[in-house]
Amino acid sequence: MRYVRVGSENLRVSRLCFGTLQIGSLLAQLPIVQAVELLTYAFEKGITTFDTARPFRTRDVLANAFRDNPDVIIIDKSPARTYEEMERDIAESLVELDRDEADIFLLYDVRSREDFILRDGAWNYLKEAKEMGLVKVIGLSTYTVEVAELAAELEEVDFVQVAFNLTGAGILDGDKEAMEKALAKLKAKGKFNCAIKPLAGGMLSRDYWQKALEFVFNHPLIDCVCIGMTTYDEVDANCAIANSESIEFDLQNSLSQMRRRLVILDWCNGCEACIPVCPTQALYMQSGFAKVIQDRCDWCGKCGPVCPEQAIFLIPATNLVEIETEESD
Ligand code: SF4
Ligand code: SF4
Repeated sequence: MRYVRVGSENLRVSRLCFGTLQIGSLLAQLPIVQAVELLTYAFEKGITTFDTARPFRTRDVLANAFRDNPDVIIIDKSPARTYEEMERDIAESLVELDRDEADIFLLYDVRSREDFILRDGAWNYLKEAKEMGLVKVIGLSTYTVEVAELAAELEEVDFVQVAFNLTGAGILDGDKEAMEKALAKLKAKGKFNCAIKPLAGGMLSRDYWQKALEFVFNHPLIDCVCIGMTTYDEVDANCAIANSESIEFDLQNSLSQMRRRLVILDWCNGCEACIPVCPTQALYMQSGFAKVIQDRCDWCGKCGPVCPEQAIFLIPATNLVEIETEESD
């Protein structure tokens, strides 16, 4: 595994970061013992950086896996809007992860310059937390070009997570080329660029997963890449791509033929944008939320990119306990 350094304390971040949203109770519902085993396996393969956020509900799994491991770097995030909310969330993060100091802590999912101004209190506390020694590296995460460009202007920002992938899926206000220009501005200002959504929440996983991952790992403006994983095969394949190694035929085959399952998170806002883009009429609305008929979904990946809330994911169907029984017709 290759590593890069970030911040004044030179934190050692693995180029491949493990996104934990998929292993938590929101998505995969992996039993905690299995989730801890998968994280431990990933660490043994050289992945030392793990990504979470308060909404992911995976801090407990990380604490169980890495409580006394000084080599693990955790990227945590908060959707806080006020000074007090950020103060409370950083304190909760330290308790839940059982740490004295946070490694990397970000203002989560900043949507626009206006949104950033409205969350000024939360950002101010984050800066204070760094000065007080509670956090080593600070920054923000975003799905917009507008905020990526804003981050380049903010002196205190060290680390930026931006939605970036082969097709530009999930970028809310522009395309891949526009985000590349913003990434170039960030790099020119010495920021650390972390790509999130490299597979667009699994939407690129059916036909393009290898090409999509090679694109981000080989991109000159990207320092590290966060990928959600729920299986050992994914860990093996993603490590190989991060290390520019070839992937064994059997592993390639197994990932390409893997059964998948579409999951819609409860942060769906009921906008209905996904309904008309589905070519197989697998999506419908119920009580103000989008639902899926799994048998009709062919994992084409068209619905995820139109979702303004990033609420739709395609994840491996293996290792899952049965969920959402109301999905069947
Ligand atoms: S992945 Fe394709 S087939 Fe499945 S629900 Fe989304 S748009 Fe429909
Ligand atoms: S596009 Fe996203 S937010 Fe809108 S209804 Fe579909 S899942 Fe919900």
